[in-house]
Amino acid sequence: METELLYLRDAHLRTFEASVTDVDADGGRVALDRTAFYPTGGGQPHDTGTLETPSGHRTVTSVRKEGTVVWHALEGGDLPAVGDPVTGQLDWQRRHDLMRTHTALHVLCGVIWNEWGVPVTGGNMEPLSARMDFEFDPLPEGFKERVEDLVNIELAADRPIEVTFLPRSVAVQDEDLIRTKVNLIPESVPEIRVVDIVGLDKQADGGTHVAHTGEVGRIRITKTESKGKGNKRIRLEVVDAP
Ligand SMILES: [Zn+2]
Repeated sequence: METELLYLRDAHLRTFEASVTDVDADGGRVALDRTAFYPTGGGQPHDTGTLETPSGHRTVTSVRKEGTVVWHALEGGDLPAVGDPVTGQLDWQRRHDLMRTHTALHVLCGVIWNEWGVPVTGGNMEPLSARMDFEFDPLPEGFKERVEDLVNIELAADRPIEVTFLPRSVAVQDEDLIRTKVNLIPESVPEIRVVDIVGLDKQADGGTHVAHTGEVGRIRITKTESKGKGNKRIRLEVVDAP
């Protein structure tokens, strides 16, 4: 049975009620009819937290999406049974730090596109630290200081971040989304989720984001590296605003 992904519409949801739809005893994990736990994907790592089950507290150690089902790996006691009601609670510190980091990366993408017209090629994040690769060749003079300034100006501008759902036929004609290769999303997906940092960066995206850029704090570029021709890696950390 398909799992309803509560985080897609409300990234700030920390607790939720659900029921167990499937049990994988060998894997020590359960599937739920709905979840606020983000499963690893799109460069964003999974959430952790707890599930309150009829037989007690369990720790959620890992979350994976397989097809349309989200599996929650549990520790701390027996698995609940199919049909059992559970209450989920996220480790909010970890999730919120990931939201801040994910949004910081979108701001970085927007700034680099606006200033240098260079697209992103890949990336990965942990809570409050991340790397992202861009098609620079080579990096411009004084890049590190300049990009850090530009990102922090956008964060301080406290731009709102809006999440909407567009029919695929509409999304593939949006110029901002075409730039981020929206056409690569499989045709079987009827509705595209769009994360819009208003006036700066718009992407088709399944990740969790803060509500406005001021919620990120600030960033520090910790390192830039060459990963070959037309591929430069930028490492950053997210810190609290002073
Ligand atoms: Zn993203």
